[in-house]
Amino acid sequence: MSFIRVALDVPLPTLFDYRAAAATRDDIGARVLVPFGKTIAVGVIIELASTTSLPPPRVRSVLSILRDVPPLPVDILGLLKFCSDYYHHPLGEVVLNALPTRLRRRQALKDEKAIRYRLTGTGLAVDAETLPRRATIKLELLRLLRATEAGIDEATLRAIAPRATAALKTMAGHGWIERVAVARAPPGDGASALRVVPGPALTDEQRAAVDTLRRAGTGFTPWLLHGVTGSGKTEVYLQLVADTLARGKQAMLLVPEINLTPQLEALVRARFPGTLLVPLHSGLNESERLHNWLAAQSGAAGIVLGTRLAVFTPLPRLGLIVVDEEQDVSFKQTDGLRYSARDLALWRAKQRAISIVLGSATPALETFHKALNGSYQMLALTRRVNAMLPVIECIDTRREPLIDGMSQALLNALRITMKRGEQSLVFINRRGFAPVLMCPSCGWTSGCGRCSAKLVLHLKDQRLRCHHCGHQERIPTACPQCGNQDLKPLGQGTQRVESALARIFPAARILRIDRDSTRRKHAWHEMRRQIHAQEVDILVGTQILAKGHDFPQLNLVGVVNADSSLYSTDFRASERLFARLTQVAGRAGRGASRGRVLIQTEFPAHALYQALRRDDYPAFAKELLAERKQAGFPPFIYQAVLRAEASRLETALDFLKHAAREGAKIEGAVMIYDPVPAGMPRRAGLERAQLTVQSRSRPALHAFLGTWHVGLDRAAGRKVRWALDVDPLEL
Ligand code: ADP
Ligand code: ZN
Ligand code: ZN
Repeated sequence: MSFIRVALDVPLPTLFDYRAAAATRDDIGARVLVPFGKTIAVGVIIELASTTSLPPPRVRSVLSILRDVPPLPVDILGLLKFCSDYYHHPLGEVVLNALPTRLRRRQALKDEKAIRYRLTGTGLAVDAETLPRRATIKLELLRLLRATEAGIDEATLRAIAPRATAALKTMAGHGWIERVAVARAPPGDGASALRVVPGPALTDEQRAAVDTLRRAGTGFTPWLLHGVTGSGKTEVYLQLVADTLARGKQAMLLVPEINLTPQLEALVRARFPGTLLVPLHSGLNESERLHNWLAAQSGAAGIVLGTRLAVFTPLPRLGLIVVDEEQDVSFKQTDGLRYSARDLALWRAKQRAISIVLGSATPALETFHKALNGSYQMLALTRRVNAMLPVIECIDTRREPLIDGMSQALLNALRITMKRGEQSLVFINRRGFAPVLMCPSCGWTSGCGRCSAKLVLHLKDQRLRCHHCGHQERIPTACPQCGNQDLKPLGQGTQRVESALARIFPAARILRIDRDSTRRKHAWHEMRRQIHAQEVDILVGTQILAKGHDFPQLNLVGVVNADSSLYSTDFRASERLFARLTQVAGRAGRGASRGRVLIQTEFPAHALYQALRRDDYPAFAKELLAERKQAGFPPFIYQAVLRAEASRLETALDFLKHAAREGAKIEGAVMIYDPVPAGMPRRAGLERAQLTVQSRSRPALHAFLGTWHVGLDRAAGRKVRWALDVDPLEL
């Protein structure tokens, strides 16, 4: 063969031909350096070819084939091709996007070593009892190092605590810990070292779920593990991981966000001390990500624990995929290649003929629908492991005056909870002090000049901030429109609730947890420690707090301002609200006493709150599905959205109108809507519009998109930026 076809990171739907007489079949999937225009680019060999359609003088020669790491395996190339076809995104961008950044650079890798820390013989002999009890970090390090023979790397060390590095230095000074440089990706088959530390005895429901999964054996089966909050889904996953490792296979666990739940990583590590677990998420630096990726690709890592980007990781012995909190929108990328990691994980499981388990207390309706119609197998965990589900009540706010957004009933409950020495959480899904600043005399409100959004009042740092484009400005001393000096904050944010609570309960220890207060590195780690050490009475927080945390002393959850999404124009709003409230409510009463959840609402009779109170997701989901079917929404139809941005709205709309006319010429059962301004019509100085297309048949939609998107680039010209969003989660 004399030519290679190369994927390059350019927004063109083609491969590029180069002369490469030395390339062999084994080089498919390998990185290459090629001349591209006036520069040198890194690409990936997708095919070998004996001919090219280019005229001979235009074919350039490859500069070098990089053989520093093994090529991308065939199954990953297949996944990437599928991804490119399905999302109608250029293959080159898809392929290069799937590589760790370090492999997208022109320099070949040197034989870099990775640093790991291990206990020495002296360290192993240390009696933890002799350490002071306050030395929590040293104790944790000791415990973790004892549990993992392979040692821990820098990233894991940093995840333990801000002071872990210092603690490690001290311990190394005592001769307890050694620093070893290991080969980047030691080959190996995790199985030989398999050790499983027994977990708790399973509950009957967990046992039944595990037995069913085992009986089904291997082969492609998608499972929905529908388990209420606190029902112990993680233990079920861990049993399956143990089985997978015992068969000499690798397991991939996908989670929405790792940074927020480092305890999951610690739990999995401790359960399989002989197995190399590699995390893969955007919080790693380049070299860590590369190292972990290579350990997965070489087979040395038995477990990959990652966020959505991990779905592209090469795993030669992949035997199981778990997607936890499968409904979470963070599995869908919202810019560039708009893929759904959950959906790609399903495809991958099918391609490799293995089981995949989707876990959730409130599955996405798409998933639940498939479980109901038998495409997925359903397993249910209906009870909490060692606690009762919390009691959920609604507080009718039409009858009660509110104090900074909080009712007397909620305040009383907070007081009682505090008296009992238990913790409470006040949940409000808006950071800042107030969502908007307003002039009562002329009606002026603080708007963002670059977006169709209000500027949020942040009193702590005396700023008005746009949560969409990052714009910020000083708080005006007078109304810019009429000069009135008495501007009023409208509505509530976390800061306002926090200061109101501080005023009402001067003795309470209050902790605010939102994106602002956790921005500082390690801040969240310290906050979690405070909560567990019972140094906090009332938590005030956004949905950061809702996800997967176990706070045993937390018994009361109050929800402020839940109604706003009840009557949203987005047809997914109720589904999301139900999921979010279930998650928040799920934080209450995980310890000894039964939890209580108070939801403030003007619509206590609303079906959503009624279903929530009965903890009846299936009934609510069936109702929503019936509505969706009636209205012709997903999952009963398939959608794609063409999004356009331009400096003038007319320009964006004209492009979409043109696209709609071109689309109308294409045969097929596809419905094309009228172009409309986007839900948020202006963002960061650009006007945005969109055009929805849909069909009852997925193949029909994709055939249509395949033809349609080809001409769009030319039509867009330089003035319009456009993107196709397949299976959009936001309209
Ligand atoms: P979920 O993810 O379903 O909300 P978790 O997996 O977080 O629930 O489990 C909830 C709590 O119950 C955790 O603290 C976990 O350690 C504990 N747990 C799970 N299974 C068991 C079991 N079989 N016996 C005792 N405790 C368990
Ligand atoms: Zn005014
Ligand atoms: Zn803005």
